[in-house]
Amino acid sequence: MNSNKDKSKDKKEEEKLWLILILSVVLIVLIAGLLIFYMNNKEKEEENTLSYTDLIKELSYGNIEKIEMTVGSTTLKVKQKDVEEEKSAIIPNTESFMELVQQKVAEGNEIELIQKPKSLLSQIPSFIISFLPTAIMLALFIMIFKMQGLGEKGKVYDDTERKTKVKFDDVAGLDEEKEELVEIVEFLKKPEKFVKMGAKIPKGVLLYGKPGTGKTLIAKAIAGEADVPFISMSGSEFIEMFAGLGASRVRKLFEKARKLAPCIVFIDEIDAIGSRRTSNSGAETENNQTLNQLLVEMDGFSSEETIIVLAATNRPEMLDKALLRPGRFDRQITIPTPDLNGRLDILKIHSKDKRIAEDVNLESIAEDTAGFTGAELANILNEAAIIATKRKHEDIERDDIEEAVKKVTVGLEKRARVISEKDKKLTAYHEAGHAVVSKYLPTQTDVKEVSIIPRGVAGGYTMYKSDEDKYYISKTEMKEKLVALLGGRAAEKLVLDDISTGASNDIEVATQVARDMVTKYGMSDKLGPIDFQGKEPYEMQLFGENIGDKIGQEVKELIDNAYEEAQELLKEHRDKLDKIAETLLQKEKINEEDFKKFFE
Ligand code: ADP
Ligand code: ZN
Ligand code: MG
Repeated sequence: MNSNKDKSKDKKEEEKLWLILILSVVLIVLIAGLLIFYMNNKEKEEENTLSYTDLIKELSYGNIEKIEMTVGSTTLKVKQKDVEEEKSAIIPNTESFMELVQQKVAEGNEIELIQKPKSLLSQIPSFIISFLPTAIMLALFIMIFKMQGLGEKGKVYDDTERKTKVKFDDVAGLDEEKEELVEIVEFLKKPEKFVKMGAKIPKGVLLYGKPGTGKTLIAKAIAGEADVPFISMSGSEFIEMFAGLGASRVRKLFEKARKLAPCIVFIDEIDAIGSRRTSNSGAETENNQTLNQLLVEMDGFSSEETIIVLAATNRPEMLDKALLRPGRFDRQITIPTPDLNGRLDILKIHSKDKRIAEDVNLESIAEDTAGFTGAELANILNEAAIIATKRKHEDIERDDIEEAVKKVTVGLEKRARVISEKDKKLTAYHEAGHAVVSKYLPTQTDVKEVSIIPRGVAGGYTMYKSDEDKYYISKTEMKEKLVALLGGRAAEKLVLDDISTGASNDIEVATQVARDMVTKYGMSDKLGPIDFQGKEPYEMQLFGENIGDKIGQEVKELIDNAYEEAQELLKEHRDKLDKIAETLLQKEKINEEDFKKFFE
């Protein structure tokens, strides 16, 4: 019962827009405020101003007793003899006015003359009023254009002083992949050597792999090893609101690369621009332009120009075939999720700068984390350090790490959440259902922990011992996986004769598994070993008229059968189900050992 979705990309775009919007509003309010302030002042000033003619008149009548002037300013403050308030006056020319004043003083008029040094502050308001709106508009435009990519784009980790410090040693596991890439490092270091030999060095290398498997890391490591600049940009940054800008960004990126060569250009999420060109909708056309520009750039530089383009994606099947042609990304390297040894190495690297207690056995953590990526493992150790700090431990202890693993997989334990007895019972049966069902499924791994303490968004959870690393999963195994996933829902139905929303994630996962079985792994007898995934509608039609219906039927049958089997198993072992659910209600948690005891 857990779910987490990745929405960070949309969020970034949204944040940008919000930022522009908020800034605009703030600025408009500011300008309006200033204008109002200025108008008010102006009105007041007008009441309080002496016209030049009046000033001359008053002066010649001997009615002025004090003049205050600022150097370089033609605005004066004058005090008339019979008037309480000082008034301001503007004079056309300081010199001729001063002559007049001197003459009056010489005639015996007593005029106090005060000269004030030029004050910057007094200048500011009028300056601001006249220039601020323009300046603000300008700033806004620059900002928007910068965001749109007309300005400087593409992060350069080097330029002059900063090169990426990442080395191959910082990348754990991936030994074979590193070996393949060493050649590129050599080329970046000594291009002449290769050119002399007549060797063709790949221009582009595509890195395939799940998020967090270390694609960016290894790309940086190549730059770090070769000691060349690393220019990076994400494919999603090329997708623009204004047509044509994506392409111009690509051009800019490569302009920069040519200046900095030898260097590495890294394009993350290349599927965002390089997805298959299919339809002709607006966004697609824009994408095509960006993609075409990228192809032009890659075809453009000669093999002597030492620019290596690395790109990363986790959706290789989406890529336009044109990208993979010779002279472009003709080399492809799969970055796998780490195996047991890889995970151990990653844990070792990331625990180097952390205080890990003696009793912590990194091997056993590596064993428990099959399927985890490097990023997730790094995250676990970081979370463990935070948990250890909160618990005021001297070092990071074993249970800190175990807690971190659970936090990363299921979410944070929420003991404080108040749960009704009814919900508790439902959760207890739901989780007991998962646990009991999987106990009787030969291919499913042992239960490690069952709990009805809420964690993250899940009301409870059943943790299994992790699979040892497997390359292939059999059909039987996938079918039993479906049964285990639906065990929760089956228990609810059987015991409470009602079902809840608590199984939504189980159902989501089960549906995905069943669909993959039919459309990806060719495990349906009726449809045969055909890959139906990612096919265009016209391609699907090649398989027959109502192929979509048939796929749907097959998926449904798999799910129905699994649900049926889960209920059968639970009916058969109802005593165990009840006992475990009751124990959960009392103790909230059952560990591996105690769980096994129910079945002795
Ligand atoms: P990707 O680009 O494939 O999504 P990243 O390279 O951004 O993944 O990896 C994120 C982080 O995960 C890295 O900065 C590093 O801390 C950690 N990591 C991932 N793979 C490895 C690895 N093989 N060795 C060491 N650390 C890794
Ligand atoms: Zn469940
Ligand atoms: Mg990355």
